[in-house]
Amino acid sequence: MRLKSRNAFAPGGFQFTQPETGWNAPKWQSFDVVVKELIKHRKGNPHLVKKHDWSLDYDTVANEIDEYNAVRCRNAGYFDFIAQDSPPSPKLFLSRFQAQKPAAAAAGSMKRVAAGIGALYEWLGSGANPVSKEKAESRAGTCVTCPMNGKGDWTRFFTGPAVEMIKKQLAIKHDLRLETSHDAELGVCEACMCQLTLKPWVPLETILHHTNDDMKKRLHPKCWILSESKQ
Ligand code: SF4
Repeated sequence: MRLKSRNAFAPGGFQFTQPETGWNAPKWQSFDVVVKELIKHRKGNPHLVKKHDWSLDYDTVANEIDEYNAVRCRNAGYFDFIAQDSPPSPKLFLSRFQAQKPAAAAAGSMKRVAAGIGALYEWLGSGANPVSKEKAESRAGTCVTCPMNGKGDWTRFFTGPAVEMIKKQLAIKHDLRLETSHDAELGVCEACMCQLTLKPWVPLETILHHTNDDMKKRLHPKCWILSESKQ
């Protein structure tokens, strides 16, 4: 997926966040300036260039910024600004999401945390194609009334690297403007340990890939994952 034009400002301008450092593109600058500023930022962090294999090549960085904004426009419904003749590249999200793939964890809740993060990791890594807003709203509406919706500070459910991974996932969610009207009331699913402002956007196939029988038994009987699986 790419922008129709690098000369026409999409709503919000040309944006980019480097999640590892929190760097944001300067506002309302030309595409060329944003590319050069990102390369400058990366060159100023040589140890991170090495660690994360960041590109410093102009054309490669330009493609990263192009695709980032194309996906942002798509998710916000600004279809006039994108050329949809190619699917999103998994590399884009993986390059921005440099946390390690969750390893198979020991047992119990740690295993569920790994599975929960893994579903979202796979989804982001495959281009983060979301379900429709209508479907995400409907799913979030079910979660919000579910007794498994663990409210309050979500970080209490996780420790260490898991917190960092979820923070990055939430930063990408924010960039992609994936929002439902229930976000403020959603916490963490105490059955599958997924962050519930993100999970309603994930296609069912990806979720099921990370949901074993044991996990299914933990879900609430009225869970949308179970009802959609039967359709
Ligand atoms: S069990 Fe299902 S419906 Fe309930 S909070 Fe978890 S994902 Fe949402």
